[in-house]
Amino acid sequence: MEPESAESYYARLAAATDAGGRLPLVTDGPLSWDVFPFEAASLRLKPLEPLADVEPPRRGEDPAECWCASPDGAHGEVWGNERWVLRLVEPSSLPLTLSLGPRAHHDLPGLTTELAAELGQLLVSVAAAMEALPSVGRAHVGKYGDGSAHLHVFLFGRPARLPQLRGSPLQDWEACLPLTPGEVLRANAAYVAGRVAVDMGGRAA
Ligand SMILES: [Zn+2]
Repeated sequence: MEPESAESYYARLAAATDAGGRLPLVTDGPLSWDVFPFEAASLRLKPLEPLADVEPPRRGEDPAECWCASPDGAHGEVWGNERWVLRLVEPSSLPLTLSLGPRAHHDLPGLTTELAAELGQLLVSVAAAMEALPSVGRAHVGKYGDGSAHLHVFLFGRPARLPQLRGSPLQDWEACLPLTPGEVLRANAAYVAGRVAVDMGGRAA
């Protein structure tokens, strides 16, 4: 069997919509998890939008227009070496949210073998340092890449001892929690940056 086309995938979704163009809410799957933040019965899905003609363009699709082409492009750097930069993401309602990416213009597909190997080591180091923070129970890792074409991997500090915030629903909780003060984020980031510098070299900013 050939790989399925986008049209065929979409047709299956469209066939399941009601007269208002909405898919039914499935309430016995992840919406029933104890970590799902909302009461499922009070929700409904937005109407299904049409299939786009093409993938929407992302920021920096042309490397000449990406942040990495401007001399003051990198901001919020907390650790870096010649090839990688670790940034503090502000604002955040978590104890710490970081973003890791290469200094040169790359997306995840097409990363060189050397950079790919270093990315793996860096993820291990950053995650271990985040999980050593007293207010972080787990480091979650997310690579989306739908907004910016320049590779950036997010590391989210899931708050410690709050099992209600476990797993992928953390992103929905995060949108609704009160913001963490900037000085708290920066102190947590400085701790992580110091540990990564010991593990991996480079310099904490
Ligand atoms: Zn770039």
